[in-house]
Amino acid sequence: MKYILVTGGVISGVGKGVIASSFGTILKCCNIHVTSIKIDPYINIDAGTFSPYEHGEVYVLDDGGEVDLDLGNYERFLDVTLHRDNNITTGKIYQHVINKERRGDYLGKTVQVVPHITDAIQEWVERVANQPVSQDGLKPQVCIIELGGTIGDIEGMPFVEAFRQFQFRVKKENFCCAHVSLVPQPRSTGEPKTKPTQSSVRELRGLGLSPDLIVCRSENPIGQSVKEKISNFCHVAPDQVICIHDLSSIYRVPLLMESQGIVEFFNDRLQLNIPMPPPRRFMHKWKDLAERVDTLRKEVTIALVGKYTKLEDSYASVTKALQHAAVYAGYKLKIKYIEAATLEEETKLTEPVQYHEAWQQLCKSDGVIVPGGFGKRGMEGKIKACEWCRKTSKPFLGICLGLQAAVIEFGRNILQLQDANTTENVPDTPHPIVIDMPEHNPDQKGGTMRLGKRFTVFTQSNSILKSLYGKQDRIEERHRHRYEVNPKYVPDLEAAGLKFVGHDEDKVRMEIIELEGHPYYVAVQYHPEYLSRPLSPSPPFLGLILASCGRLSSYLARGCRLSPKSLSDHDSGEEDINQKEISLVERQAKLLNEYAELFDGQLDEDEPIIQFQEKLNLCDGSVGSSEVL
Ligand code: GLN
Repeated sequence: MKYILVTGGVISGVGKGVIASSFGTILKCCNIHVTSIKIDPYINIDAGTFSPYEHGEVYVLDDGGEVDLDLGNYERFLDVTLHRDNNITTGKIYQHVINKERRGDYLGKTVQVVPHITDAIQEWVERVANQPVSQDGLKPQVCIIELGGTIGDIEGMPFVEAFRQFQFRVKKENFCCAHVSLVPQPRSTGEPKTKPTQSSVRELRGLGLSPDLIVCRSENPIGQSVKEKISNFCHVAPDQVICIHDLSSIYRVPLLMESQGIVEFFNDRLQLNIPMPPPRRFMHKWKDLAERVDTLRKEVTIALVGKYTKLEDSYASVTKALQHAAVYAGYKLKIKYIEAATLEEETKLTEPVQYHEAWQQLCKSDGVIVPGGFGKRGMEGKIKACEWCRKTSKPFLGICLGLQAAVIEFGRNILQLQDANTTENVPDTPHPIVIDMPEHNPDQKGGTMRLGKRFTVFTQSNSILKSLYGKQDRIEERHRHRYEVNPKYVPDLEAAGLKFVGHDEDKVRMEIIELEGHPYYVAVQYHPEYLSRPLSPSPPFLGLILASCGRLSSYLARGCRLSPKSLSDHDSGEEDINQKEISLVERQAKLLNEYAELFDGQLDEDEPIIQFQEKLNLCDGSVGSSEVL
């Protein structure tokens, strides 16, 4: 087993997670089996009890583990299935050691940070690194370990010490350390400054870890002279310095790394035996995807009606799932974050400007998503958004709490169940249309939810989602909820047109709703966003995007195909075009072929090629700073 430890210097939030996932992506493209571990040095046992305002969304794994959102990056980049133990926290390590102490495993010895905590960390890492994370069940060969926070944080010290020891335990050729640092370029001179990097490398060395790679993050590209300066001052060879500036999309990060010789570096340093040079079609999927993202021009606007809209990371997987679907469908995504409470009648009186602006945003969007959430605040606003989508035929996707809001709205306004509500917010509601699950224990918040991967069985053959999921009879998706639709109301809701087209395996839990006669009014009790991948978007999200662009019916009529030359063709290996060898004209011609069908029906019959070229040339080649993965 080979280990790559990724540490951070200067400040957090420089994209350490993306850098670490990109290492994995590149190695995976070299046919190496990669796994990853994320270390969060906080005391919490897991991310389950976090408010999304603290660290962004809580990411849920197949096994029900509630973990840091960075694990989502790894699953999406590497297309693997991680386990709850792939996220280590200080709390988990201490709990493990304290349990051992209580059992008497330490034979009366004083239990200390060194060696007991540091040993436990090393053993945990070795054990988890060897667990298979892909469907083929093969043992990983490389484990990428991301240490959260920055070097020098008090909480991170036991982990740094553990890895200082670990490098000797697993031997030099099996361990390397990559340090991700910031190179600021102050606006006054625009000159890149290397001093913060020098100090953080010094600090890392002082703790006994020498960086094998220094990854410099900067706003703009950094010249060779700066690379040399870092190499001189930080005591590493020039080929050990990699520079990653801000890029049009994060799909370009692995490509930029590869162009700086990272494959050769890892191959040599970790003795990976990757045959050199890399195969001809090396990383073609990523090249195609990056190209595709940069050439999108037509826009689709989705309103996200949520409660934690001030921190976009709170909806990281939802926004990424929307991006995957939009890119797949050939559209540039614009997300409008709407604070649900501003849509409520009360805001009209207290903050009329905000109220009207929020409604204007909602009305101007092409589609609406109401994501998951907890608690009272904003619930009425979400219900209002559902009502508006239902009445105006606006494409709508509800997720978890979004499904519950849609059912409450329908109960109140169509079945005339006055004050119908969820017992989560109004325990004594006269019409408990959403209730807590029997196994739920109200006194304890941690670990009382229905979590992880469960089956949903389709009950109706004419369901839109069933078609989008490829006509399978049952699907598996990840869950995270405590409340569910009250089965008592289901017959009346169905009779009025709200169809429960998916149930759990025991047919007691309602999983999917679809509204009859509406172009796309769909909600799911599970969280499809966690299983969305850049090259295979999640079906409910794809449905929302296609419906929002007015292309859902033609997509369904074609048997769920965008065009014969959709992305899946790239995977089949039929085309064998080396991007480096072809000129810009040829590249445009290739794109033209690929996208002509995507613009089907939007170009005049006479001069489709010229118009299409206009579309390509007009595109500004950027997707802003928004992350796609
Ligand atoms: N609060 C709701 C429940 O517990 C919805 C949860 C969610 O959206 N993840 O059922």
